[in-house]
Amino acid sequence: MRKTSTYTRNERGEWRPQYKIVPAPINDWPPRFGALARWMFSFPGYLWPLNLFWVGITLATWTWLTPALEAMQTFELWWVSLILCRNLALTLLLFGGLHLYLHVFHGQGSSYRFTLKPLATNSGRFLFRNQVFDNMLRTLFSAVPIFTGFEILTYWGFANGYLGYPGVAADPFLFWGWFIFLLLMGPVIHSIHFYLGHRLLHKRWLYLRVHALHHHNVEVGPWSGLAMHPVEHAIYFSTVIVQWLMALHPVNALFQIQLAIFNAATAHTGFERIKFSDWFTIEGGSHFHYLHHKHFECNYGGSLVVLDRLFGTFHDGSEAGDAVMRQRLRAISRA
Ligand SMILES: [Zn+2]
Ligand SMILES: [Zn+2]
Repeated sequence: MRKTSTYTRNERGEWRPQYKIVPAPINDWPPRFGALARWMFSFPGYLWPLNLFWVGITLATWTWLTPALEAMQTFELWWVSLILCRNLALTLLLFGGLHLYLHVFHGQGSSYRFTLKPLATNSGRFLFRNQVFDNMLRTLFSAVPIFTGFEILTYWGFANGYLGYPGVAADPFLFWGWFIFLLLMGPVIHSIHFYLGHRLLHKRWLYLRVHALHHHNVEVGPWSGLAMHPVEHAIYFSTVIVQWLMALHPVNALFQIQLAIFNAATAHTGFERIKFSDWFTIEGGSHFHYLHHKHFECNYGGSLVVLDRLFGTFHDGSEAGDAVMRQRLRAISRA
């Protein structure tokens, strides 16, 4: 997504960036190779700073915070609880750190925040009538056990040779080439899987029973990212199954799970960017996904592979985009 701009707020305190959301060159057909290469290697670009930072976290998690694969051939309480506790700690660090910086200590004030409305502290939509408590409980007691379950199954599967095609892994060139390719593809897989799962969740039956819970969060904070019904957690983290089918090494599967965690946190900060100083900000939110929370009927997918453009539900964030969406919804209601 391309972006540059100053920003403005309307009289309701809503902030709309002064640019349209432009899908990254990966969405273009026929391919524009020059633009693709610039997008891959520029700073900020596809690789850095964010995706390489996430890969670094995954490699550190695997190297220092995961038991040896051979020890995980049978399910035992010590290593299962070790991974669960590690995941609880990392989740508290990431989601809690972002929440404290942005919403408690107001580290960047309201710069880049989409709205000036506070997170709900007295609303019947949330457990204990408090949005942050509700979001934290659903994250720590539902999301973390469920993605930990996927992670544990991954290690057990690889340790026993049920996953990973051990015969193919003997060729080091093929092994490491495929390893790097799947790391590069991780965000793409996440984006496509998210679109498909999310469209399913907007089917009326599932929406009312499952996904509505996530949409109770109209204003969002980092903890809203994984504030979901357990069924939605299972669907969301099933993205790792793609790696179960393709990967030769468990790190590819771990990266896929962790990407789903990282993206949930950053896509719901409620801020378009995270500001470290006047001259250094990073992409720390998602205008694209914020528009989905605001309007429901647009931007179902991830902001990397913009399947919404293909299926006619893309909103580019502009006032013209509002008008196109209203027209589309009127046409649907007349049909
Ligand atoms: Zn969301
Ligand atoms: Zn939705």
